[in-house]
Amino acid sequence: MTRPILARIEPAAFRHNYLLARERAPGAKALAVVKANAYGHGLMRCAQAIRDVADGFALLEISEAMQLRDSGFTQPIVLLEGFFAEDDLLMASEHAIAAAVHSDEQLRMLELIDIDRPVDVLVKLNTGMQRLGFLPERLPQVLARLRATGKIGNIGVMTHFATADGPQGVTEQFERFHAAVAPTGLPYSVCNSPALFRFFPQVQGEWVRPGVVLYGGSHMPEQESAEQLGLRPVMTLTSRVIEVQEVKVGDRVGYGGTFVADRPMRVGTVACGYADGYPRHAGTGTPILVNGQRTRTLGRVSMDMLACDLTDLQAGIGSGVVLWGEGMPADDVAGAAGTISYELFCALAQRVPIVEG
Ligand SMILES: *Cc1c(COP(=O)(O)O)cnc(C)c1O
Repeated sequence: MTRPILARIEPAAFRHNYLLARERAPGAKALAVVKANAYGHGLMRCAQAIRDVADGFALLEISEAMQLRDSGFTQPIVLLEGFFAEDDLLMASEHAIAAAVHSDEQLRMLELIDIDRPVDVLVKLNTGMQRLGFLPERLPQVLARLRATGKIGNIGVMTHFATADGPQGVTEQFERFHAAVAPTGLPYSVCNSPALFRFFPQVQGEWVRPGVVLYGGSHMPEQESAEQLGLRPVMTLTSRVIEVQEVKVGDRVGYGGTFVADRPMRVGTVACGYADGYPRHAGTGTPILVNGQRTRTLGRVSMDMLACDLTDLQAGIGSGVVLWGEGMPADDVAGAAGTISYELFCALAQRVPIVEG
């Protein structure tokens, strides 16, 4: 028998979530954010699932964009960090791939390059995140320089919110953005998942850019669960109990002996560890589903295994385990591990076999 760990990825759930996200933005188009190999779910798998309905895609690498073009996707594709070198820009122009322009370096590249076809750009403004983009007051100058190159097709403007999922919201950043963009009359894009679900239509834009919700993660798990939002999990990471230990009071479990049994317990060993992408920071008490019953992990996560509490459960060797996904929200596991569902999805290791359906 092969090692029992497996990730099931459901393209139909991804499609469902994409359509649901787009419904939240009437009148806008939705770029499916599929960077990082579609948050660990497989770029082509996810793109195929929405081939006939997708308004467009957003990702980072020109090679990923080319994979989509080579597979016949004709929708707009946006490089969220723009081009890193001249070659990227040549490819983008040749294959009608739009690029964010966020730096003077990129402006200079555009001014110097020799391209036959105009390239579509999204000028990225830094409205408060201090990560990428021009300060809003530079927009007129940047637009003038872009237009002067004679190499630009459609122009849009974008920004990214730092606190769309927090109490500060997006008001301050959006006001700064809007003040700069409104006079230009250009189309724009501002909404990530939390901004889309919380602030549309106060902040709108021709394009929205949902990411995590497409994969069934809540944009604000402490406030609203993915299920409450109508989202479906796309990735379900499953494994099995491969050993059961009868443990006495005072026995310690796992590396460092950090968990001490306070009563006689049955401890299940699950074939899943941090080398599979399970967060090592998930301490005792992280929720886990065994044989359909919710229980908790015990002690430290090992490279290939973790321990869980089977004491009050109908379960034994061979019992099915859901680490996250259907029946065990990734948001709950992420919360217990001090991280976000995004990181769990992206961390799924190469060695975990994937099945679709
Ligand atoms: C990743 C990313 C998104 C999507 O963010 P989510 O929080 O996953 O919805 C949107 N816009 C930009 C620029 C991004 O980098």
